[in-house]
Amino acid sequence: MNPRPAPPADVDRAAAGRAAIRARRARAAIKQDIATRRRTALDAAQVAWADPESPEASLRVTELLASLPSLGPARSARVLDELEISDRKRVGGLGVRQRSKLRDWLVHRQGAAPSRLVVLAGPTAVGKGSVSAYIRENYSDVALSVSATTRKPRPGEVDGVHYYFVNDEEFDRKIAAGELLEWATVHNSYRYGTPRPPIDAALAAGHRVLLEIDLQGARQVREAMPEALLVFLLPPTWEELVRRLIGRGTEPPEEQQRRLDTAKVELAAQDEFDAKVINREVGQAAREVVELMDAPAGAPTSR
Ligand code: 5GP
Repeated sequence: MNPRPAPPADVDRAAAGRAAIRARRARAAIKQDIATRRRTALDAAQVAWADPESPEASLRVTELLASLPSLGPARSARVLDELEISDRKRVGGLGVRQRSKLRDWLVHRQGAAPSRLVVLAGPTAVGKGSVSAYIRENYSDVALSVSATTRKPRPGEVDGVHYYFVNDEEFDRKIAAGELLEWATVHNSYRYGTPRPPIDAALAAGHRVLLEIDLQGARQVREAMPEALLVFLLPPTWEELVRRLIGRGTEPPEEQQRRLDTAKVELAAQDEFDAKVINREVGQAAREVVELMDAPAGAPTSR
């Protein structure tokens, strides 16, 4: 019988622990560089394949993909599926065929056209309206979709600018005529929908288009226009979201509670989205959303 190997001395264990921390930090730096476009994922993969001892080689493929700007965990899981790569695989551990598939996908993606249609969704009171208003005022080259709604205008809201305010009959007519890309009843009360013709026209003219809609609507857009990039706007914390919701004070308490419940359900859907933006400061969040419009789209096979 072979004698059991002696347990590593404390000093070896401490050294191994330090090496593990260094490796983790190196991997985090690689992901950060890819996320901020200082470096391409293709470059990291090539380093991994040239040097099996490199930190790049020890990155999981799923981490490499998820750090791509505008890809995010949900889409990267779908890509892994398509490439038939297990989510446990490290970049350096890929076989020849898998390397070639991943390389092709990354090359294709780098050359892909930017995603011109961006859907901004997120929980109630996270500030979607403020972010889209900021974009309307500061990025005149981005076309903001104007939704139709059956709710009444609030003070300061202008028909045709903030919404098309319509009655139930007119909304029914729009649905029947197939004029809406998506529509939903929001907060169990009024109906909201995105008119399709202006979006088709703006995209055909080469404009970037932003839709600010609820989660149900975002899911419908994903079905109808799979090339759209779905962005989820997050609050910095749950407490901050509650503060913003109550702080607005425009709704009665039962309505606030209903919106809070909806927000919880909506937050749980964040991983369905391609990208997440945290709304700490409106101008910064708006900039990040617009930057995502310039990011290369996923390869057409990524969904
Ligand atoms: P508000 O009444 O406060 O302007 O908007 C209420 C909710 O309706 C927001 O969550 C907003 O994102 C959503 N919403 C606005 N326009 C549309 C739309 O065209 N479609 C869908 N599905 N939701 C919308």
